[in-house]
Amino acid sequence: MDLQLAGKIALVTGSGRGIGADTALALAKEGCKIVVSDVDPQTSSASAQRLVAEGHDAISIPCDVTDEGQVGALVEAAEAAFGRVDILVNNAGYVRDGYLTKMSVGAWDSVVDIVLKGSFLCSRAVLPGMMDRKAGRIVNISSRSIFGNPGQANYSAAKAGIIGFTRALALESGRFGITVNAIAPGFILTEGIRSLPHFEKLREAAVAKIPVGFLGEPRDVSDTVLFLSSDVARYISGTTIFVTGGRYSS
Ligand code: NDP
Repeated sequence: MDLQLAGKIALVTGSGRGIGADTALALAKEGCKIVVSDVDPQTSSASAQRLVAEGHDAISIPCDVTDEGQVGALVEAAEAAFGRVDILVNNAGYVRDGYLTKMSVGAWDSVVDIVLKGSFLCSRAVLPGMMDRKAGRIVNISSRSIFGNPGQANYSAAKAGIIGFTRALALESGRFGITVNAIAPGFILTEGIRSLPHFEKLREAAVAKIPVGFLGEPRDVSDTVLFLSSDVARYISGTTIFVTGGRYSS
């Protein structure tokens, strides 16, 4: 199937590593020009360099998605470099786990800020250009944790918020030819996950609850991003695709 993504400009937040880096590569392989953006300038630059080394067109523009000024500068620089942003993937996110009675305000705020404020700021920055051109794709990365994970009240709340955000934004921007969708991944094997202490125990416990019987890989998410970013998905907006191997609740 030709996804007709060649020549599109894609901005992927948190694309220095993990799912974001894999998504950037997947979009690049489809012929997109990529703006790699991560909070850590070195990670960001190394990720973009890997794409360039493989013959793709990519630049690195580091950005903390929670900082309004940095997000404005990111989108300005992306538009200056490539002319526009056609596809935004709001991927940056992280966890600061802990049971609620022991959770600090900092752990709550930082997770909610990166997931929700980051997606808000990045979407708000790219939308005017997309509206002018009457075309655009926004894909927000949520999580299976919207059903609740113990020790992740902050993350579960933020990732559930992303689904409401996605629906509201889809309603606002459909008439401009823009679709907005979310992906809720389950347990996806990234380098970060592999390096967790007790990883093997975690893997065993997770696999036991996953109907298809194995953990996901970054490509399971990035392939879904490709689909939602393409014209093939032109009539899909405001929805959430669960990439969880069939697992929903905890
Ligand atoms: P990783 O931690 O491997 O990658 C996330 C990237 O985002 C890192 O490079 C990180 O940089 C960057 N980042 C962190 N904070 C910011 C910020 N403020 N601004 C910009 N970039 C930032 O995560 P994954 O690849 O595992 O996850 C990607 C997305 O998928 C996240 O939204 C996550 O919540 C979601 N997800 C992941 C699942 C999984 O099993 N892996 C399951 C469900 C959802 P640095 O490392 O320097 O902090």
